[in-house]
Amino acid sequence: MNAGRALWFSATTVAFFCGIAACAESGTADGAAIPSPSEAHFAAGRAAAEPDFPGLVTLCDAMPPAVTEARVVGNEGRRPEPPPLGPARVFDNLLFVGNRGISAWALDTSDGIILIDALASEKQARAGIEDGLRALGLDPEDIRILVISHGHGDHYGGAPYLVGKYNPEVIMGQPDWDALADPDNRINAPGWFDVPEPDRTIADRETVTLGDTTIELVVTPSHTPGTLATLFTVTDGDNAHEAVLWGGTGFNFGEHPGRLETYAASAEAMRIEVLDRDIDVLLSNHANRDLAHEKIPLLAGRGATDAHPFVMSPARVARGFEVFRECALGHAARIKASGS
Ligand SMILES: [Zn+2]
Repeated sequence: MNAGRALWFSATTVAFFCGIAACAESGTADGAAIPSPSEAHFAAGRAAAEPDFPGLVTLCDAMPPAVTEARVVGNEGRRPEPPPLGPARVFDNLLFVGNRGISAWALDTSDGIILIDALASEKQARAGIEDGLRALGLDPEDIRILVISHGHGDHYGGAPYLVGKYNPEVIMGQPDWDALADPDNRINAPGWFDVPEPDRTIADRETVTLGDTTIELVVTPSHTPGTLATLFTVTDGDNAHEAVLWGGTGFNFGEHPGRLETYAASAEAMRIEVLDRDIDVLLSNHANRDLAHEKIPLLAGRGATDAHPFVMSPARVARGFEVFRECALGHAARIKASGS
């Protein structure tokens, strides 16, 4: 049993025998301290993050403040533009067209481009997506489908501009369309920037095909209620790999244990799917999560026999979903134990 498995076993065992809050202060008969359920989950999450996921381990630290419209809109205009990153053809059919702060990914199909996320603004969409596609030899006029990973403005803010210019089909999870349409639903939909019009909604999971490329969109609450994970095949020369783009990562929705447990359940379901489907690439829409800013520069100097920096084994990708699950459960247990 490796260290990570031992900690997961320990966390599950403590939670099972103690209940979530009952034995937070308890010890064993010989006086050794038993970690509280939250501590056990956090320890398991931190262990699962070693060595591949330094960008995810911070989920086990203090939760960030909840996103609010006032906070986001108040900062708008004062926030420095993220430094550029890329563009880069990360796989033969997958392009990075984001920036150092926010990622957008483009699938280059036989019948045009599937764009995943629109960045935060027209300015970012012009610099990252339009200029990026052109620099890599593609034409933004060929954007046919825009998948919005979730209803936070840093991922849809550039959409009205792109839709007005290129008219792609716009796809987002049904719960996030609902939240964006509800002016009272500010935790889920802070309502920053103009919201694009929905063309297609995903209620659970669906496949979407463009030319020779089929992607699968899966609703994975609860970064937002309708956050979409996107599953697709990438190619690297003669090698094909299965990728998952986890559509929303942070716990920036406030101290809600039920929502954290829902997040953990989504992560656990995807962890199982990763192993069942041999998914060996884990991508994010923020470079600080999947370390795109460290991995993209490695592509330029990559030799013919060098491993691809974004590819890892399915077992290692699954460990990333253990980080999501354990950190979410750790915060849920912490909040419940505090009685809030
Ligand atoms: Zn978000």
